[in-house]
Formats: sequence, structure tokens, C-alpha cells
Amino acid sequence: MSGNPVAPHDSFGSFSPVSSVGNSGALLRVSAIVFDLDNTLIDTVGADKCAFERVHSTLHSNYPVFPHPSHVTDTFKMLLSSGAELMSVDCDDIDNSASSTSTSSSAKQKSCHEMRFEMWCEAVERNIPPDSNAKKSLDPSRIAALCNSVWSKTRAAGFNIAPQDAILLERLKQRGFKLAILTNGPKDVQQIKVNSVLDHLSPGIFDCVVISGEYSIHKPDPRIFETVTQQLNTTPSQTAIVGDSPDTDILGGNFAGWKTIWFNPDKRVCDSLSRKPHVEIQSLSDLALVIDLNHAPQKAL
Ligand SMILES: [Mg+2]
Repeated sequence: MSGNPVAPHDSFGSFSPVSSVGNSGALLRVSAIVFDLDNTLIDTVGADKCAFERVHSTLHSNYPVFPHPSHVTDTFKMLLSSGAELMSVDCDDIDNSASSTSTSSSAKQKSCHEMRFEMWCEAVERNIPPDSNAKKSLDPSRIAALCNSVWSKTRAAGFNIAPQDAILLERLKQRGFKLAILTNGPKDVQQIKVNSVLDHLSPGIFDCVVISGEYSIHKPDPRIFETVTQQLNTTPSQTAIVGDSPDTDILGGNFAGWKTIWFNPDKRVCDSLSRKPHVEIQSLSDLALVIDLNHAPQKAL
């Protein structure tokens, strides 16, 4: 595994190339940079944590019959994960779990939003104290609707790209790089996040956005990577994936012959050879240290 890229640079515009970064000891020469969405461009884990805390406080205030509101959310998380396990799909976040469950034979006609509401209903019903006097008067579906609404709205509010990352993308685009998003998950769920990111960027900054649910092919399957290079009109060796997941972004990128950049802010350890990235970074701003900025297809005027 490569160490941190280290090099002095005063700004993106006056970047000074470094002679040795990553495993190869050279700057990556690509014409297209493709970003994972969840926990790369947006802090999905942080948004989830905030959303579940809001559900806890809402249940505590409105339905004190639940002695442990966290049990409701824990059950909800377990139901999402169980769906993923049943489908033997490798999931790195809640929305990928939702994606896999939505493809089960019993639920093909249901949207992820509908499935999540049903999971909240199940989570609520399982955690109403059986000896509670209020049990007969409680309406689980009404409580579930409240949980689902609070959770969904709080999450959506957290799907923002960091200001410094927005500036980075704008400058990469100005340098002439093709930019794209490749994300696992269902179309209806992931599109909301994509739109949230787009709201903070210049129109047309991404040359393509590929949501795996639209194709029923998910990272690390190399076919979804091929879909991106076809849409970008680039070659695998000229394309880099930037993502937080060794199991989806890096493994799939390596399979597809892309340059792989592991966004690893928590400094996790990955000893798998097939998941070994070309370069590891702890901050997206480190991209300026690992990519040859002078190799962009065209220069900004
Ligand atoms: Mg991710």
C-alpha cells in the first residue's frame, strides 16, 4: 500500500509536480477522472448518523412508549442488511443494501422508498413493548411514516459536497479533464444525491453520471466500468476511478484496467492484492498531487 502523497504546492493553479507518489513512483496520466458518490463526493455515513439520531430524538419526544428508540433504528438497519445478504451482494452502504433488496423476486414492483417504509413498519412493530397499555391504540404505520420522513429528509439535507471539493472539481474541469460519477445503488435513491451535488457545481461539469441500478450491473463488475468509458469516449488506461471502497471501486477498477485511487481518509488497511490501488489519498485535494495535471486533454484558456 502506498503512503501518503506528500509534496509542497501553493495552489492548484501553480501546482508543482512531484517526482514520486503512489506505488508506481510516477504521477498518474489520465484524461478522465471518475468519482464514486457515497462516502467519496458526499459523506453518506455522516448523513446517516445524523438522520438516525434525529429519529431517536423524534421517537423519544413523540412516543415515549419506546424505552430504547435506538432499537427501532437498529432493527431497520438489520432489515436492510438482511436483504443484502440474501442476495449475496457486496454492499458498502445503506443505499446499496436497498438496491439489492429491491431486486428480490418478491419486491420487483416496489420502489426503494416503498420498501424502506415497510421496513420501518416492521421495525416499529417489533419494538413496541408487548405489555404496553398503549399497544392497542398505537398505529405502527403512522409511527413508521414519521420515522421514514424524518430519516429521509435529514439524510437528504446531509448530501452536500464539501466546498473545497466543489472547487477542486471546477478546477479539474478547467484543466480539461473529463469528469464523471459512477455510483452503485437504485436510480430513484442515487439521483437525489446526484442532484444535491449538481446544485453546488457549474452546469455540465460531469460528462456522464452512471447509476448502476439503471443497468442492473454494479461495481465491481467491470461491465459497468466499460459503460462509463464508452460514454466518456476514453480508454481504460486513460481513466481513473476515485473511491472509498476497496471491494467495489478499487477491485472493479483494477479488473477494468483503470487507474485506481483509493480515497481512504480513515487510513484503513487493505492487504488484498486484487484490491491494491495505484495510489492512496486521505483527502480529495490530494488528487492534485497524484495526477499529472499537465496531461489533461486540453488546457483551460
Ligand atoms: Mg463509496
